[in-house]
Amino acid sequence: MEHPLAAQDALMWITHRPDLVFTSGQGSWITDHQGKRYLDFVQGWAVNCLGHGHPAIVAALTAQAGQLINPSPAFYNAPSLQLARGLTARSCFDRVFFASTGAEANEGAIKLARKWGQKHKGGAHEIITFADGFHGRTLATMSASGKPGWDTLFAPQVPGFPKAQLNDLDSVAALITDQTVAIMLEPVQGEAGVVPASVEFLQLLRQITDDRGLLLIVDEVQTGMGRTGKLFAHEHAGITPDIMTLGKGIGGGVPLSALLARESVCCFEAGDQGGTYNGNPLMTAVGCAVLDVLTAPGFLEEVTAKGEYLAAGLQALSERQGLGGERGSGLLRALLLPDERGPALVEAARQRAPQGLLLNAPRPHLLRFMPALTVSREEIDQMLAWLEELLAA
Ligand SMILES: *Cc1c(COP(=O)(O)O)cnc(C)c1O
Repeated sequence: MEHPLAAQDALMWITHRPDLVFTSGQGSWITDHQGKRYLDFVQGWAVNCLGHGHPAIVAALTAQAGQLINPSPAFYNAPSLQLARGLTARSCFDRVFFASTGAEANEGAIKLARKWGQKHKGGAHEIITFADGFHGRTLATMSASGKPGWDTLFAPQVPGFPKAQLNDLDSVAALITDQTVAIMLEPVQGEAGVVPASVEFLQLLRQITDDRGLLLIVDEVQTGMGRTGKLFAHEHAGITPDIMTLGKGIGGGVPLSALLARESVCCFEAGDQGGTYNGNPLMTAVGCAVLDVLTAPGFLEEVTAKGEYLAAGLQALSERQGLGGERGSGLLRALLLPDERGPALVEAARQRAPQGLLLNAPRPHLLRFMPALTVSREEIDQMLAWLEELLAA
């Protein structure tokens, strides 16, 4: 039989990948082509909120695949209606537009805010975003992102995204002009290394946007769908944003994202927004199954409890090993390292034998943890024990 990696060069090179092919997964464990098992604390980048191979997702996919895959986004379909109802009923938003990726949902949010600015604010179109923020890899969402170096990569940028500093209201206020239409942020900056916006800062942003007649947009692509212990992270601050985007966890591993908005903001006209796969029943059926699991009695309380358990374990490990502490919200956490050994630790964890461990270092001086929301305390203990071995080595 041909080696599974023989076709490696047929893929366009975009990043370094280790020489292994993952072939199956169950819960918090994933298996490669040689049968080696890995404890997965990456989960497709916080995507597989129910872990690998969750029966509710498999059942939804299988049933829907046999029923109807795509009638075209120009027609209604039952799962997208059901999921839209489920999301609006559990949030402060009134309407939903479904897309396939987080970047696409954020593009929609940017377009909606600009359209609203054209209609209601004399063409104001600037959206204040934040240094180190991450909103996706399309041209507009890269421009909205504050990732160092991205301002010149693929220049010229899409204009209209002045950058403020997270948790610094003065830096936001200084950027507001008559061209400003919205402020957009992640409640917890994920790619920046799990940096939370404070409750007070989120409340002040709601206040300043209300006072100045601006929209508040929360990018909950990483923090939404139970990741922080609430269904949506902005609930921790008790605020009602105007627009929210969801991705990653909403599909539990399949390509699904959503743009949600309050009624007063929904101003798209026919032809303004669309897309071939938007709201297709195969993906939205999975979204319904995911939402059912997340909102079952006690599920989010368990996420909170396990988040506290992971936090306490990381903190204790940090103290024993003389590291820089931990931070985060729910089951999105980071361990701060005293030096830039993050990538080496990720590598050593994956190569660990006989069983490996999948971790992620979005910045070299920290590790990020985004396990399945269904992770067990035993699996958290196992990860901590292996990580401590690796740190000691
Ligand atoms: C991952 C992510 C995105 C981009 O989502 P894609 O599905 O990769 O396009 C946008 N915003 C945040 C906060 C993210 O974490």
